[in-house]
Amino acid sequence: MKIIMLGAPGAGKGTQAKQIAAKYEIPHISTGDIFRANIKNGTELGKKAKAYMDQGALVPDELTCDLVMDRIAQDDCAKGFVLDGFPRTIPQAEALTNALNKIGQAMEYAIDVDVPDENIVNRMSGRRACLNCGATYHIVFNPTKEEGVCDACGNQTVLREDDKPETVQKRLSVYHEQTQPLINYYKEQNILRTVDGTKPMDDVFSDIVAILGE
Ligand code: ADP
Ligand code: AMP
Repeated sequence: MKIIMLGAPGAGKGTQAKQIAAKYEIPHISTGDIFRANIKNGTELGKKAKAYMDQGALVPDELTCDLVMDRIAQDDCAKGFVLDGFPRTIPQAEALTNALNKIGQAMEYAIDVDVPDENIVNRMSGRRACLNCGATYHIVFNPTKEEGVCDACGNQTVLREDDKPETVQKRLSVYHEQTQPLINYYKEQNILRTVDGTKPMDDVFSDIVAILGE
């Protein structure tokens, strides 16, 4: 099962992708998580990516595409995978289509988690992330048991630098300019499915399971 999660930053792609990965036993591949892990480990890629991420801009395609192509070629992706945060531009989508074409494969589902802009700022200012294990919470909709402490690993949870309101506005305009055109791209490939991302998390997940099958 090869799945792409589409949607604005903060729409709930990561929240749903983790549940999809657990239910269907496929890897969850988040380019944002990969970049944040590289930043934490002080790699060259991390240093380059951070400059773009802190400004709410996209990391250039040439730093992003090879990374994903290498990841999906690994053995654990043989049964499928769920991509979260990739592709984010038409050239990235074309690189993915071409790479899979070469091995006689194709993506099967592009699930657009649809949330209007007015809900996004609220979602992102309330998001708390564990930079140790990647778990994500929301101070109102999905709080940690103990304030500021990750339920999964016990580390501190933080407001991501790029979730501050001034950067969120920039990320939203980047989304509309560069990523939203992918909705049409996948509609034309006949694999686009849309879910209402304003519903509670469990309801969104049920809608996704109705699309993917039990
Ligand atoms: P994305 O991966 O698309 O950037 P996340 O999955 O991290 O988004 O979700 C953004 C924030 O909104 C998180 O704090 C998450 O807990 C919260 N959230 C996700 N889905 C919902 C939902 N359906 N209703 C309310 N809050 C949600
Ligand atoms: P995310 O965790 O998906 O919200 O991504 C956080 C940030 O990482 C984005 O705002 C971008 O700067 C960068 N990023 C993640 N995925 C991509 C991608 N596919 N292409 C370019 N930049 C990306």
